[in-house]
Amino acid sequence: MRAEIVSVGTELLLGQIVDTNAAYLARGLSEVGISIYRRTTVGDNRERLVTALKEAFEESDVVLTIGGLGPTMDDITREGLAEALGDTLVQNEEIAEGLRRFFTKRNMPVLESNLRQALVPVHGRAIANPNGTAPGVLFEKDGKIGIALPGPPNEFIPMTDDHVLPYLRAKTGNIGTIRSLVLRVAGVGESAAEDRIKDLMLDSNPSVAPYAKVGEVHLRVTAKADTAEQAERMIAERAHLVRERLGTAVYGENDDPLEKAVVHLMTERGLTVSTAESCTGGLVAQRITDVAGSSAVFLGGVVAYSNAAKTDLVAVSADLIARVGAVSAEVAQALAEGARKRFGTDYGIGVTGVAGPGGGTEEKPVGLVYIAVSYPGGCEVDKSNFIGSRAIVRHRASQNVLNMLRLRILNG
Ligand code: AMP
Ligand code: MG
Repeated sequence: MRAEIVSVGTELLLGQIVDTNAAYLARGLSEVGISIYRRTTVGDNRERLVTALKEAFEESDVVLTIGGLGPTMDDITREGLAEALGDTLVQNEEIAEGLRRFFTKRNMPVLESNLRQALVPVHGRAIANPNGTAPGVLFEKDGKIGIALPGPPNEFIPMTDDHVLPYLRAKTGNIGTIRSLVLRVAGVGESAAEDRIKDLMLDSNPSVAPYAKVGEVHLRVTAKADTAEQAERMIAERAHLVRERLGTAVYGENDDPLEKAVVHLMTERGLTVSTAESCTGGLVAQRITDVAGSSAVFLGGVVAYSNAAKTDLVAVSADLIARVGAVSAEVAQALAEGARKRFGTDYGIGVTGVAGPGGGTEEKPVGLVYIAVSYPGGCEVDKSNFIGSRAIVRHRASQNVLNMLRLRILNG
C-alpha cells in the first residue's frame, strides 16, 4: 500500500512552524508497513489543495492530510478532500448536537462555521476527537482512502495512534512492519562512533545509521520483518552488538535525554548532586530538574555569575579568582567543591567559561569552558573548546557536565 502525506497550512510554507506532525505520521506509517511515496505541503488555498490531492490520489492508495479542519474560512481540507474524491459532505446530526452542547456549555454562540465540523462524507465517516472540537474525516471511495487529521498535535497524535494506524494496519492485513530503535551516545563523536560500528553499517536489514546531534550522536537501528516480534528481535540483537562496541558511551534509548539517564543512575545508587554554575546560568540545574523524580538526587544549585557571587555563595577564594581568572580549571574546581560542601551532596558540579559571542580573548577564547565534578575521592576537571553560538556553547557545556557526572559514577 502506498501513501502520501499532504500537510495543509500557510504557516508551514512560511516556515513559522515545523511540520512535526508529518514526521510523526511518517514514522507511524512505516511501522504499519506502508510505503510513503511523497510528502507535500500546501498553503490554505482550496484550488491548490485540490490539485495536490488529485495528484496524490493518482500515485497513492491512501492520502492523509494534516491541518485545516478548524472552523475558520482558511480551514478548507474537509471540502478539498471531498472535491478531489468526487464525494459529497452531509451534516451528521449526532456530531452537530455534540458541538451545540460544547458551545452552549461554555456560554458561546453556535455559529454556522462551527457546524462545518459536523460535515461527514457520504462515502466515509468521522473519526472521533476526544481532545478537540474538530473530528477527523475518513473517506473510502473507489478503492481510495482519504484521511483528514486535525493540526494541533495534542489532537493529531492520539487520533493517529488510536484510530488511524490501527485502521490502516487492519486494511493492509499486516504485510510487514518496519521498527526502529535509537541508541543515544555521548562523549564520542560521530566519526569515532561510526568507526567502531562500520561493519554493522554495511548491512541493510537491520540497518544502523548515525545521526550527529548537538553534543551527542544517535544511532538508529531499523529492521523490516513480517511481524513486530521478529523486527524487535532483530533490533535487539543488533543493538546488543552496537552496545558491545561502544560500551558506556551509550547512555540511553529513543526519546530519553542524558539528564534522565543521570537522574535514574543516581536514584538507583542513592547518590546526590548540587551545582554551582557560571556560564551555563542554571542550565544544568534546569536539565536535571526537568526529570520527574529529580528531587531524590538534586539538592540545590546556585548561579554564581559574578566573581563576588562565586565568593559569597560557594566560597571561591577572591584571591584565587584574582590570580588565575574566573574562567580557569582552579575556579571550576573551587565551584564544584564549594557546591558539594555547601549543599552536603555526594557530587558537586562547577562550570565556568566564555559563552560568547563577546568576551573572548586570545588566551581565553569564546567557547572555552572548564567543568569540574567533585566526588568523594577527589575532583575531575575538564577543559573544552566548544564551537558555536552562545546557546550551543551553553548546551554543549551542560551536556559535558551531565556526561562527566554519569561516567564518574559508572567508573566508581
Ligand atoms: P489547523 O488545524 O490547520 O487550524 O492548525 C491548528 C494548529 O495546529 C496550527 O496553528 C499549528 O500550531 C498546529 N499545526 C498544524 N499543522 C501542523 C503540523 N503539520 N505539524 C505541527 N503542528 C501543526
Ligand atoms: Mg491551518
